[in-house]
Amino acid sequence: MGWGLVPSIFLPRMRSRELHLVWPSWYFSGISRAQAQQMLLSPANGPGAFLIRPSESSRGHYSLSVRAQASVRHYRICTAANGLYLQKGRLFPSLEELLAYYKANWKLIHNPLLQPCVPQGAAGRGPECPPPPQQPLLQDGWERPRSEFALRRKLGEGYFGEVWEGLWLDSTPVAVKVIKSAYVKLADLTKEIQTLKSLRHERLIRLHAVCSAGEPVYIVTELMRKGNLQAFLGSPEGRALGLSLLLGFACHVAEGMSYLEERRIVHRDLAARNVLVGDDLGCKVADFGLARLLKEDIYSPSSGSKIPVKWTAPEAANYRVYSQKSDVWSFGVLLYEVFTYGQCPYEGLSNHETLQQVTWGYRLPRPASCPAEVYALMLECWRSSPEERPAFAALQETLDAARRRLHPALT
Ligand code: AMP
Repeated sequence: MGWGLVPSIFLPRMRSRELHLVWPSWYFSGISRAQAQQMLLSPANGPGAFLIRPSESSRGHYSLSVRAQASVRHYRICTAANGLYLQKGRLFPSLEELLAYYKANWKLIHNPLLQPCVPQGAAGRGPECPPPPQQPLLQDGWERPRSEFALRRKLGEGYFGEVWEGLWLDSTPVAVKVIKSAYVKLADLTKEIQTLKSLRHERLIRLHAVCSAGEPVYIVTELMRKGNLQAFLGSPEGRALGLSLLLGFACHVAEGMSYLEERRIVHRDLAARNVLVGDDLGCKVADFGLARLLKEDIYSPSSGSKIPVKWTAPEAANYRVYSQKSDVWSFGVLLYEVFTYGQCPYEGLSNHETLQQVTWGYRLPRPASCPAEVYALMLECWRSSPEERPAFAALQETLDAARRRLHPALT
């Protein structure tokens, strides 16, 4: 097989004048099984990287080598008089068509075929080999192909679309937010995702991956099995929780928000429904930064129902002045939700009436199970003047201290 000439077994549908091309990027002619293994396991490649090479042990046949997680699997591709096959009974006229079939039906070989191997390291392509294939489009490690995610069970639906429990590469449980493009300015989403990638804290939902090539966009995060804090508090398990765990939730959220505050990131939609609870009863703040991507007509006060008026500081609800201090107001409402086990604030009042009452100075009453010092903090969060509201760092400190005082066993 000579340089630059692609035998028809690779690209059978090409017209003859198009045959003088480089070899397909997934074909490596001069390498051994061990070299294939070494290349596929190099840092340049991830799970799902694959290549096809001539078989070492059976002349005239080929091998498909695929990276699983930390290992490489090899499959024999046999040549027969009338085509090629990996599994008896599934015959293909070309390697390309065989690959296309197993890319789409990867479960038959228990390994997704995601991207051609990027050549690297000692294993070259040998003297007879064509030049290395073009690198894939510049992508960071967060961007993953959609085919890696299997959506299993719908967990809920939010402003941005549906959220599904899923499996990543058939092994890691994840939550997948399927973004409805009708609701989000997709051009801004990319920018926002960049911010999400840079945020890492134990009290913030961890971003695992993004599928942003094409629509719908997937935002893949860690799975929080007990769902959102508001629903959890109202469940039988939530209603049975005592004061120390409720205070623990408040501390976790304050800690996550403190981290956002340090980075000058405004959440805009802090509420118990946007806090998620894990199996260990640890809370994490979710959806930070996404609220501002909502299309104006959906999030603006004039559109009525979609703006979370009951959680929104008056200056933000009236004039759209969002700041870290408007998040602090929302945190006060979240504290109310926590100590009422998920009750809706301002029950019986419409959004319009709430905004009116709050502007005139009305404040939510102390929930029965809320310690006086925590209620005092709520009132500080609801000061009319944003500058007079405490910072999250101070709230975190005070709540931690209250928790230790009320439960000295929790050092
Ligand atoms: P959202 O669009 O973020 O409001 O999500 C809608 C609902 O999906 C939430 O209220 C949760 O019940 C659920 N959900 C969202 N993200 C996750 C996650 N990472 N883990 C578990 N459930 C989630």
